[in-house]
Amino acid sequence: MNSFNRRQFLKTISLASVAGAFPNIVKAAIIRPHIVVIGGGFAGATAAKYLRHWSTAVDVTLIEVNANYNSCILSNLVLNNQMNLGQITFNYNILAQQYGIRVINDWVNSVDGQNQTISLRNGTTLGYDRLIIAPGVQFLNVAGLDSNRIPHAWKAGTQTTLLQQQLAAMPNNGKFVMTIPAAPYRCPPGPYERACVIADYLRTNKPGATVTILDANADIVAERQTFSQAFNVTYNGIIEYVPNAVLQSVDSDQRIAHTSLGDYRADVLNVIPPQSAGEIIHTTGLANVGGKWAGVNPLSYESTAIANIHVIGDSQGTGQPKAGHIANAEAKVCADAILRLLNNAPPFAAPVTNSACYSPITATTASWLTAVYAYDATTGTMKVVPESSGEATTHTAQNYRRMLDWANSLFADTFA
Ligand SMILES: Cc1cc2nc3c(=O)[nH]c(=O)nc-3n(C[C@H](O)[C@H](O)[C@H](O)COP(=O)(O)OP(=O)(O)OC[C@H]3O[C@@H](n4cnc5c(N)ncnc54)[C@H](O)[C@@H]3O)c2cc1C
Repeated sequence: MNSFNRRQFLKTISLASVAGAFPNIVKAAIIRPHIVVIGGGFAGATAAKYLRHWSTAVDVTLIEVNANYNSCILSNLVLNNQMNLGQITFNYNILAQQYGIRVINDWVNSVDGQNQTISLRNGTTLGYDRLIIAPGVQFLNVAGLDSNRIPHAWKAGTQTTLLQQQLAAMPNNGKFVMTIPAAPYRCPPGPYERACVIADYLRTNKPGATVTILDANADIVAERQTFSQAFNVTYNGIIEYVPNAVLQSVDSDQRIAHTSLGDYRADVLNVIPPQSAGEIIHTTGLANVGGKWAGVNPLSYESTAIANIHVIGDSQGTGQPKAGHIANAEAKVCADAILRLLNNAPPFAAPVTNSACYSPITATTASWLTAVYAYDATTGTMKVVPESSGEATTHTAQNYRRMLDWANSLFADTFA
């Protein structure tokens, strides 16, 4: 819809707004706004779904380069053969068929915020009234690193399979070495979870093998108590945790990590590179938080750099964690705000989001971590609500079962 039509639409619904409350008014509109969503992960797929779930009066186009989405959540369980990739792979059929979302599998080359258009790799140009960008993270260059041989597996898919195969081929008494970038990175507890899952696998399958964690951070970033106990007690003699080890370069042929604390040679080397917002955030000129992340107004997730563009999920720079559960929550806040804005009303003034992570610690036990964030009107930021946040005191079998229930609920809420 061009801007003339959009003004007409807003006029139509503001005249109608005397009659009743949102969202019925939006449903009554004749002219349909077009909302485009870039990225079909936990953030983008949820936003597209809930826009249509809450209003049949808007057109929604979801543009995702891949036909299938591999969830990073639970992907560490593929490494120790507890799950296969197919169990955490989703498509967009239900979003298209049940919710009437137009799904395009293509790559977005560029966004023109001035003219409110996007250009696809196939040469098509699409106009939008509101644009949501949810491209996740991109991985930054590390000198000497060839991720096709030294996998990060920090985006699930072929990288996960490659790391799984390398672990399976690892010799007894072998050395698994992994690097963790300085925070913020995708999924704060994820690397420590991975170290535990792999240590458990090696304990039973590769006698004498060890895990070395080279952490660029000064201490464990999330669930400190649980992971310290896991490293020092559950995996005593198997896991070595090395803080303040900043990765400088990699020898991909020899599988050596060169760090600020020296060189570490591995049989299997897993380098999780530093990250920033997805590429399209940078090319669009939205990375105005430290040059890495997109600054947004957390009431609507509208960019602080360009009007009518919203950024959610791992790319946003609000300080909320880069995690799938909270990406799903941000998407709902954003979708609700867009529908209100199209109705000429302000976004809801007191949004709350929640982040939950379950971490498998052994093949049968897990821990959890949760944080609730509420909008603080004084600072205009999302702040942790202390009394609503917390973590497991230890890892249990009950937590493991709940982890699977929790993940399945999140998958269904996003893709079904
Ligand atoms: C091992 C591991 C474990 C994790 N465990 C948890 C957990 O327990 N709980 C939790 O909440 N989170 C967890 N996470 C984090 C979670 O996976 C991410 O935070 C989440 O995927 C972010 O969602 P997103 O939609 O922002 O990005 P993504 O999931 O990366 O989705 C972005 C999508 O955009 C597409 N895209 C990007 N650019 C373009 C473009 N230009 N054109 C077209 N398409 C494009 C990509 O193909 C991708 O599908 C874990 C992550 C890892 C690695």
